[in-house]
Amino acid sequence: MKDKSEKGDSPQAEAYPENVETLVIPGSHKRNKTGIIVAIFCVLVSALAALSVWFWWNNYRKFSVQVNNIAVQVTGKQSLSDVLTEHQDFNKKPGKLLSLSGKTLESKGGAPISVRQNGTSISAEQLGSTYLHEHDSLIVQNGKDVSEKHKVHEKDIPFSTSITTGGAIQFVEQQGKTGKQEYWVGDRSGEQVDKTVTVQPTELKINSLSPKPPADKKVIALTFDDGPSNFTAPILDILKSKGAKATFFDIGKQSAEMPQMERQILADGNQVASHSNSHPDLTTLGRDSLRTELETGFNAINTASNTKSRMLRAPYGAFNKQCWTDAADMVSSNIIWTTDTLDWKKPGEQEIKDQVLKHAYSGAIVLMHDGGGDRTEDVNVLPSIIDSLHAQGYELVTVDDLIKMDGRFPKWVANNEVAPQAN
Ligand SMILES: [Zn+2]
Repeated sequence: MKDKSEKGDSPQAEAYPENVETLVIPGSHKRNKTGIIVAIFCVLVSALAALSVWFWWNNYRKFSVQVNNIAVQVTGKQSLSDVLTEHQDFNKKPGKLLSLSGKTLESKGGAPISVRQNGTSISAEQLGSTYLHEHDSLIVQNGKDVSEKHKVHEKDIPFSTSITTGGAIQFVEQQGKTGKQEYWVGDRSGEQVDKTVTVQPTELKINSLSPKPPADKKVIALTFDDGPSNFTAPILDILKSKGAKATFFDIGKQSAEMPQMERQILADGNQVASHSNSHPDLTTLGRDSLRTELETGFNAINTASNTKSRMLRAPYGAFNKQCWTDAADMVSSNIIWTTDTLDWKKPGEQEIKDQVLKHAYSGAIVLMHDGGGDRTEDVNVLPSIIDSLHAQGYELVTVDDLIKMDGRFPKWVANNEVAPQAN
């Protein structure tokens, strides 16, 4: 067997004869090179053309999109920002910056115009890097108005006061309570605008009733104002000797000077209540002065006789809505009268007596004085008044007694205490 290699040392010589070079036509090698160059050139030109078309197609070809449902021609090179600029934002405007009360602070200070591309919201920052495609739908709308930044605060809401007058005894039916309300202050405008009420205020309710004793009772309350004075002792003696009780509305300053008289009034079974400290018209005082006047008056009779009573007879009976608003937490009741004897005018003993008897009825509250001037007429006529009333079947009681026998008054009024705080 002959080895393959034995067939010849040079198989190439067999495939390609030595004279093959002589068969090549001169110049054909050069033409091949040219063909290749031409081919490459053609490919490059084609590629460049394709690239150019691609570039044009993507950047400069105009195509149609819908802006607010109207066809608009754009190119792919234009960002949304460019399109908006070219079309003046399609007549849409940014929102305004408004103050808390709605005044315009900046006409273009609100939210930028709103842009949605195929339903997706595009933020102002994205507009410069967002591009359109054929058949895209764009919705461009006015920017929303924006309210300025603000700080939140809380303030008090004063309670309101209702007052029902007409009765001889005014009292606190329900204490008032201050409410709370949130309010905003605009950072730019400084405007203050009321907001949510967080705590509703409670109304202060002042009621009044004239005592209505039970049908089987025949009672009258004699009251003496402006003491204690040197006329108090003889009046106390008369009351004691006649088995009558009375109520003394005393001036604090004078109580401080005659504490033993205060104690005697109580020791005899009478009642002591306050007639203020220095007898001003309380309706002319500001809140602080009013409260000081009342507190000093109550403290004076308390110091003199240990009376904790918060019953008041305001000088001249004058205790208006503002007084109650300012001091309802200090006073349990303000006692007016049903019969004014006008004894301070010194009308004569008979006239004083006639006034009492003419207006005598069960539940009456009679105004007399044991101070504030010469009370000789009162001292002289008092025995006769008491005798006449007794003769008509009346019992002379204190104001406390009148209130306690009338179930309509709240218990704090009957106890001479200030009304409890509102819940
Ligand atoms: Zn008086």
